[in-house]
Amino acid sequence: MIATDSVAVPRRVNLLGMPAVELEAFMVGLGEKPYRARQLLKWIYHQGVDSFDSMSDVGKSLRERLADCAEIRAPEVAQEQISADGTRKWLVRVTGGSCVETVFIPEDGRGTLCVSSQVGCALDCSFCSTGKQGFQRDLSAAEIIGQVWIAARSFGLPKKGGQRRITNVVMMGMGEPLLNFDNVVAAMNLMMDDYVYGISKRRVTLSTAGVVPALERLAAVSEASLAISLHAPNDELRSQLVPVNRRYPIRELLDAARRYLQAQSDTKRVVTIEYTLLSEVNDRPEHARELARLLADYPCKINLIPFNPFPHSGYRRPGRNAVSRFWNILTEAGLRVTVRSTRGEDIDAACGQLVGQVQDRTRRSERHRAATRQHPSVTADASSRP
Ligand code: SAH
Repeated sequence: MIATDSVAVPRRVNLLGMPAVELEAFMVGLGEKPYRARQLLKWIYHQGVDSFDSMSDVGKSLRERLADCAEIRAPEVAQEQISADGTRKWLVRVTGGSCVETVFIPEDGRGTLCVSSQVGCALDCSFCSTGKQGFQRDLSAAEIIGQVWIAARSFGLPKKGGQRRITNVVMMGMGEPLLNFDNVVAAMNLMMDDYVYGISKRRVTLSTAGVVPALERLAAVSEASLAISLHAPNDELRSQLVPVNRRYPIRELLDAARRYLQAQSDTKRVVTIEYTLLSEVNDRPEHARELARLLADYPCKINLIPFNPFPHSGYRRPGRNAVSRFWNILTEAGLRVTVRSTRGEDIDAACGQLVGQVQDRTRRSERHRAATRQHPSVTADASSRP
């Protein structure tokens, strides 16, 4: 006889994160007109609903059929913190229990959401706290767009008096977006879709440490803006700070980024060059002069990021003088340069300080240490406890 204790429960399809064309095909598959997909998109993203019940312009029988085979499942908010300067940070729990972080930075006239693409990161840039936890897994498209959904919902719906707060999205949270290519592209395309968040393509930015083959593929599927994490003016230094440089050196990376721009219909675009300033490592006048030579005639603007310290990083943030000296040399060479101000310091929301999962691990290792102290002979057992 066949054992029947595992009766298959049909899995519901998560509509959050599903590309618009797939959602259309899904509705057509249910015998509905394609326009139904647009109705659903507006409910899910503009209204922020997660149940079919509230979709008042969708007939009852279709709502019931949808509830049978589909769901709108966003990741869970484990914690929300608001900084004295208005910066907000969400600790977002994704499937399997790991956490990632999402940060909202309000500024005059705009609001930028910094979104994570992976749990941890494989690239191990020497000054980044996310890299210290290693790579755990890719986020799904639902978990990526879900971060925007969570933030947008927390601000209240425009209809109910809240204005649109998220004007820009940067893929600069945890993870390397180009190593989670398909899900990141799907989520970014949703962000730009008018039936979703309708954010302009210039205001959705993918930031990469330089995974060149993936960057070569990006132009065919995305119109997002591009930021490159350069951090050094030559390969020798960059390979120490950003190890992926050993495989894809600066020249190849800059050329690929230029080709990405050239493939866009909008010809006025530039690449944002991110340069984290590390005291005495890459912030000397000679580094600035070498960077100015490297980027002369390159279509870019430079964003200097004074290093945000974290415990045991081994690096220091440069003082104001070193930052302005660096800025001056670049500006005098005719480059467009901005300095990123540090926001949300009181809630550890600054660039490179996002550690989501590490907190969990620390607690786990504390429990492990405590268990080992009590029962030195059961180390293996204790370490496998959740
Ligand atoms: N993997 C992507 C996104 C990383 S986070 C990338 O490398 O572009 C966004 C930026 O913050 C990157 O330029 C990254 O190098 C930088 N960064 C990481 N840790 C930092 C820190 N502690 N202080 C300042 N900038 C940091």
